[in-house]
Amino acid sequence: FKVPIVENEPLVSYAPGSPERAALQAAIAQMEQQLPFEVPVIINGVPVKTGKLSKQSIPSDHARHICIYHEADEATVARAIGGALAAKAGWEAMPWGDRAAIFLKAADLISNKYRYKLMAATMLGQGKNVWQAEIDAAAELADFFRFGVKYVEELYSQQPSKNSGGAWNRVEYRPLEGFVLAVSPFNFTAIGGNLPGTPALVGNVVVWKPSPAATYSNYIIHQILSEAGVPPGVIQFVPGPPPEVVAQAIAHREFAALHFTGSTFVFKKLWKDIATNIDKYKSYPRIVGETGGKNFHVIDKSAEIRNAVLQSVRAAFEYQGQKCSALSRLYVSASAWNGGFKDQFLEEIAKIRVGPPQDFSNFMGPVIGKPAFDKIIGYIQRAKEAGGEILIGGSADDSKGYFVQPTVILTKDSNSVTMREEVFGPVLTVYVYDDAEFDTTLDLINTTSEYALTGAIFASERQALIQATNKLRYAAGNVYYNEKCTGAVVAQQPFGGGRASGTNDKAGSIAIFYRFVSMRSIKENF
Ligand code: GLU
Repeated sequence: FKVPIVENEPLVSYAPGSPERAALQAAIAQMEQQLPFEVPVIINGVPVKTGKLSKQSIPSDHARHICIYHEADEATVARAIGGALAAKAGWEAMPWGDRAAIFLKAADLISNKYRYKLMAATMLGQGKNVWQAEIDAAAELADFFRFGVKYVEELYSQQPSKNSGGAWNRVEYRPLEGFVLAVSPFNFTAIGGNLPGTPALVGNVVVWKPSPAATYSNYIIHQILSEAGVPPGVIQFVPGPPPEVVAQAIAHREFAALHFTGSTFVFKKLWKDIATNIDKYKSYPRIVGETGGKNFHVIDKSAEIRNAVLQSVRAAFEYQGQKCSALSRLYVSASAWNGGFKDQFLEEIAKIRVGPPQDFSNFMGPVIGKPAFDKIIGYIQRAKEAGGEILIGGSADDSKGYFVQPTVILTKDSNSVTMREEVFGPVLTVYVYDDAEFDTTLDLINTTSEYALTGAIFASERQALIQATNKLRYAAGNVYYNEKCTGAVVAQQPFGGGRASGTNDKAGSIAIFYRFVSMRSIKENF
């Protein structure tokens, strides 16, 4: 059989008066009436209520909670790993066409049956506005599953190109021996589905620890996968205290891979812990991680100003800057800055409304929680102390929800703290360079930060694009010309970065699937 041609999920606009808008609003209202939901651990398809309770609060209204979830304790994690290993033989033996059908069905359930529920959970629980929830919890999640099926088909079809006389050479793409640990972040519901989904598609069993701040939407994904036919035990849903659950999983002899998205700090720590445990393992674990970013736009003197302004506003402030890919350092040529960029940029930012996502006119919502709020405020403070000038924003209010105003800091020090470190919030630092110093500015971009995730170059002169692309060869894994540095689309812009930003295994492409298979060559003589 051949997998059908798949397309990216069409985006819904939620225009005022549209039936989709009404349906989404109804789903949000219903969820608000029913919350908090109780979320169990799921082991072998069975809900487990450990009684060790934790809460996921609503960041726009932190006195309320979207769910109360049961945390996995040591015995529960041990059962989850044991159950996954027991499910492995059956899942691996399932014909590929059936595994493919399960994930294609899951994608259809997301598009048609659970779209509004997943979006409501993402809007309330993770503080996304309607369009940010649509591109994430609806479109990207469905795309990961549909294109994932397509990529696995392509992978399996790649066979040795030579057969010597009287023999047939072939390769098998076995899943890894053992189990995969998926550790997913709060900021993308789609990544919540992709981290366990990608290894499972090629026949692996997965122990999945969702982010505490995305427990409820991730639980819905687990329900969708079960409804689509993922057998019990294949993906174990194990919310719990992150350090304990993860430490227990990576100390296990059958730990075969880590599929991680989150902070650079945690990823490096896990890498070291894995190294410490290396003698315990049956095989060398695969370590796949997508971590932080300190992403840049460079606005050349030849840039089309209006486009550069609008794209920069979106890249810095959509989802409150809580994307690994978010724009956080902006390099603008003096002639562009003084020739309209500055005025238009500040004018557009002044129009941004900040508030709860249930009100669709709010462009920005809350940041995810108290530690994030405090950290962001701390960075604004440090930037000011270091001589940064706040051009707009700078204020914040956490009395009801964790709201931070979009903030722009102008710095004369290209090496200042908010030019180097990831803030993960709506804080953008601007550095204005002399037109004549385009080339040395490219050197600054390349060397200032340890990260290398995304970047964009705005120029109408091709020579500037070429020069920047060459100089910034390793400064980003995703580069955009005259477009914002966020919003990679599955199957269109394979996503990931190098240096401290991750292992660059490219989500949304065939490349990531190689990490979760172990090839076996078979030569048969006739
Ligand atoms: N893929 C997303 C983008 O291109 C970012 C994912 C992340 O923040 O981890 O904007």
